[in-house]
Amino acid sequence: MTTAADVLILGGGGAGCSAALHLARRGVRVILLERGLVGSQASGVNHGGVRQQGRHPAELPLAIRGRRMWDDMAALVGTNAEFEATGHLKLARNATEEEDLLRWNAMAAEYGIVPRMIGRNAIRADHPYFSDSVIAGSLLEEDGSANPRLLTPAFAKAARAAGATLLERHPVTGMTRAGDGFVVEAGGKTFTAPILLNTAGFWGGEVAAQFGEVVPVTPLSPNMMVTEPLPLFCAHNLGVVGGDVYLRQISRGNVILGGGRGESDPAIPASRPLPAPTFSAMERAIEILPHLAGAMVIRSWTGIDGGLPDALPVMGPSHTTPGLFHAFGFSGHGFMLGPVVGAVLSELVLDGRTDVALEGFDIGRFARQDAPEADIWKTRLE
Ligand SMILES: Cc1cc2nc3c(=O)[nH]c(=O)nc-3n(C[C@H](O)[C@H](O)[C@H](O)COP(=O)(O)OP(=O)(O)OC[C@H]3O[C@@H](n4cnc5c(N)ncnc54)[C@H](O)[C@@H]3O)c2cc1C
Repeated sequence: MTTAADVLILGGGGAGCSAALHLARRGVRVILLERGLVGSQASGVNHGGVRQQGRHPAELPLAIRGRRMWDDMAALVGTNAEFEATGHLKLARNATEEEDLLRWNAMAAEYGIVPRMIGRNAIRADHPYFSDSVIAGSLLEEDGSANPRLLTPAFAKAARAAGATLLERHPVTGMTRAGDGFVVEAGGKTFTAPILLNTAGFWGGEVAAQFGEVVPVTPLSPNMMVTEPLPLFCAHNLGVVGGDVYLRQISRGNVILGGGRGESDPAIPASRPLPAPTFSAMERAIEILPHLAGAMVIRSWTGIDGGLPDALPVMGPSHTTPGLFHAFGFSGHGFMLGPVVGAVLSELVLDGRTDVALEGFDIGRFARQDAPEADIWKTRLE
C-alpha cells in the first residue's frame, strides 16, 4: 500500500517534530517517519543548554530567532519544557580566555546581544563558591536551560493535534527520487511526496549520500553525568571558554555536568559514557567549584549527534535533488535550535524563503576545494 503526503520528514528529533508542527499548522499533509521513538536520540538526552552565548556568527541569527521562540513555547506546544532564563555564565580561567570572552561579546553586540562582563573582584563577590582559578565571566541573562526529555514529545503531540501523521518505529530503509517526487520505504510500507525533509541527526549524512551529497559528518557523543542533590549554589547555566566542562544545577539540587566525549556506534545505534572523560570533567569542575569535591555521581550517559568539521549544521535545499531539504549535523548545540529549525524549514518549503541567513550552512561548502581557514569563532560545546 502506498500513502501519499505533501511532505515526508525523515527523523523525529527536535528539528523534524518542529517541522511537522509548523507545516501541519499551515494545512500541509505531513508524514514523519522515525526509526525509534520521537526525541529518543540526541534531542532527548542532551545537556539542556539554551544559549546564544558562544555561538558562531554564522549561527547567531538563527539562535537569536530560536531564543525568542522559547519565551512562547507553552503557547506553541503546551509546555515550556521547564525552560528558565537562568542566565548563561561563561567563565575565563586565564587572560587568553578573558580576551576570548571580550572578542565574542564585541562581535555579538553587532547582533544586539550584550552579555555583561564580570571582572575578578565582582565575580568573587557575586559567586563566592568559585575558586581563584576563575578570573572573569560573561553573563548573558536571557540564556538558560530546559528539560530535553519534555520538548520533542511536546512538539510531536502538538503536530499530531494539528493533523500531522508521526509514525514511530518506522525505520526508513529505502528512498529514491522518481517522477516529480520521492518514494520512501519505512516499516514495510511505501510513502510518496514531492518534498522530503532530511532531519535525521547524525544519520542525515547517510540520507544526503543517497542523493549524491557527501558530507563529512562524524558521530559526536558528549560525555554527561549528574550528581546527587547538593545544596543550591548557582542558578546560572555555567560554561568555560573552550567548553571542556559545563554544568548546571537543577532546582532539586542535582548538578548536571558534561565534558569530553563518550563513545558510540551509530549503526546499532548505541552510545555509552567513558570513565576517563567522566573523571577528568569532574576534576575540571572541581577546579572551578571546589565544593563539588566528594559529590557522588549517580548517573552518566551520552548520545549521538552529527558533528561537522566547522561545527556548523547543514541546513537548506539540496544541491542535487529538487524538493529535498536538509537540516542535520548540529554538532553538539542543536537542542536549543530545534524549534526554530522546524519553523525555518516550513518557510523554505512553503514560501521558498526565510528571514534567517543560511549561507554558512550550505551543503556545498564541503565540496569546495579552497583550504579551510582557521576559524576563531568555531562553535564549542556548552
Ligand atoms: C549528550 C549531548 C549533549 C548535548 N547538549 C546540548 C546542549 O546543552 N544544548 C544544545 O543546544 N544542544 C545540545 N546537544 C546537541 C543536540 O542534542 C542536537 O544537536 C539536537 O538534538 C539534534 O536534533 P536533531 O533533530 O537534528 O537530531 P536527533 O535528535 O538525533 O533526531 C534525529 C532522528 O532521526 C532518526 N533517524 C535517523 N535515521 C533514521 C532512519 N533511517 N529512519 C527513521 N528515522 C531515522 C533518529 O532515530 C532520530 O530520532 C547535545 C547532544 C548530546 C548528544
